[in-house]
Amino acid sequence: MLNVPSQSFPGPSSQQRIASGGRSKVPLKQGRSLMDWIRLTKSGKDLTGLRGRLIEVTEEELKKHNKKDDCWICIRGFVYNVSPYMEYHPGGEDELMRAAGSDGTDLFDQVHRWVNYESMLKECLVGRMAMKPALPKGMLPQSQVTDTLAKEGPSSPSYDWFQTDSLVTIVIYTKQKDINLDSVIVDHRDDSFRAETVIKDYSYLVHVALSHEIQEDFSVLVVENVGKIEIILKKKENISWKCLGHPLENHNSFIPKKDTGLFYRKCQLVSKEDVTHDTKLFCLMLPPSTHLQVPVGQHVYLKLPITGTEIVKPYTPVSDSLFSEFKEPVLPNNIYIYFLIKIYPAGFFTPELDQLQIGDYISVSNPEGNFIISQLQELEDLFLLAAGTGFTPMVKVLNYALTNIPSLRKVKLMFFNKTEDDIIWRSQLEKLAFKDKRFEVEFVLSAPAYEWSGKQGYISPALLSEFLERSSDTSRVLICLCGPTPFTEQGMKMLHDLNFSKDEIHSFTA
Ligand code: FAD
Ligand code: NAP
Repeated sequence: MLNVPSQSFPGPSSQQRIASGGRSKVPLKQGRSLMDWIRLTKSGKDLTGLRGRLIEVTEEELKKHNKKDDCWICIRGFVYNVSPYMEYHPGGEDELMRAAGSDGTDLFDQVHRWVNYESMLKECLVGRMAMKPALPKGMLPQSQVTDTLAKEGPSSPSYDWFQTDSLVTIVIYTKQKDINLDSVIVDHRDDSFRAETVIKDYSYLVHVALSHEIQEDFSVLVVENVGKIEIILKKKENISWKCLGHPLENHNSFIPKKDTGLFYRKCQLVSKEDVTHDTKLFCLMLPPSTHLQVPVGQHVYLKLPITGTEIVKPYTPVSDSLFSEFKEPVLPNNIYIYFLIKIYPAGFFTPELDQLQIGDYISVSNPEGNFIISQLQELEDLFLLAAGTGFTPMVKVLNYALTNIPSLRKVKLMFFNKTEDDIIWRSQLEKLAFKDKRFEVEFVLSAPAYEWSGKQGYISPALLSEFLERSSDTSRVLICLCGPTPFTEQGMKMLHDLNFSKDEIHSFTA
């Protein structure tokens, strides 16, 4: 009989079998590879069960999460809910369970030192371990987590500051994951420094009179996965600051956004170009001491003094063209804001706006609006119904979706206007449709010239049912509507009658 060694794979001394700490791998079920895990983390699924909130975790709270289907582990002060990861863990569930409900840093370091766990588990991040409060003898600590979870709104952010010889860094800990450069608006003027962070429907304000002078420009950085914002200021003089400054109105407050007033800064008109016979592209430049990015689908208010009274009207910023790349800005400050604005000769505000000369100033507010970018996540079909300047919110939505939503199969715009001359960016839209096969545009005119061979009339159930064709029966759909109020209201009703659900429709209104 041949002496055949028993089949063994991986080999007894293989790195696949035994890692440095003597850890053996277990066979993973199908669909549970690293790639599958990465796909899951990018799917937008809530892997912590906390709907994107980051919380402070006490030791008592951590200990409670010690079961397979509810397993929290602390690694270097950060707490992760590893239950969704269990089946994907190459070392198997039992190994992860050894650290369940406790600090697993040492265990982790024995076998995983080389693993970039921060990135692998970033969607599982629950929050940080809370500092142990110094409690009088006999008093039991209250569970901060239970308190936080019980509350309706997000947990209150906090801030801190640090300095080097030449820099002062203000750090805002938002305790929230879906934070980006749009979330924070910074204005420095005279001796007032103001940083407003928008977290869901709440606003957190750092508002101080700085103790020393700073240079005009500053940078803003966001560490998204831990919800940290850093505002880096440059000192005018290299001296040590004893304090950041003294508090101004509402400093360190965290209140519902609806309860905050609109804050304005003066922006300079840098260009104005004709787009149609009555619509112009205005470009405004933000002051160098402002960081402001208007989120996709949101609007701002423009304010002008007209006959001694300050008049305010809402406008929706657009990109400078339909072909602008929609990426995270390389520069910390996006300094230009573009608007497509129709001038109504008999209107109150727009004729005044049209009178502005290059170099003149106009006040621009902080952004407002209820569109949230997650509405586009995992979308397959995007339908845009726009009438007249109701096209403006569609511009960024369209750019963003085509550039950032990998699941997107098609985007269709139905654009309602009176005549061909009224169509904003017609040739750009046609070029885009030619260039990107996912995009289609259809123009509908209410008062066309005799030669018009395209669609005509008003928004109607017949037009909509033909237009709103899903790419499959189960495809994820969003329909955005914007135009004169009656257009939007009628459109909404028709969409409901066509059995689209509330979640599948977004109407842009004031
Ligand atoms: P208004 O004085 O409001 O008049 C508009 C028209 O109505 C004029 O033709 C006027 O003669 C007529 N009119 C006024 N009052 C009456 C009346 N009593 N009876 C009959 N007719 C009347 N617009 C854009 O161009 N671009 C944008 O990006 C944009 N974004 C917007 C975002 C939001 C959230 C909202 C709500 C609106 C947006 N608008 C936008 C519209 C904008 O806010 C103004 O309504 C528009 O610019 C008209 O302002 P106006 O003061 O010049 O005209
Ligand atoms: P417009 O040229 O007057 O109208 C555009 C098209 O819509 C025309 O074909 C028009 O037909 C049609 N229309 C108008 N009223 C209608 C109705 N009740 N039902 C069906 N169709 C209708 O539009 P505009 O002057 O550019 O005005 C655009 C509107 O969009 C403004 O009211 C503005 O406030 C709003 N807007 C809102 C937002 C927002 O909320 N975020 C953003 C931008 C713009 P006819 O004129 O031939 O009848």
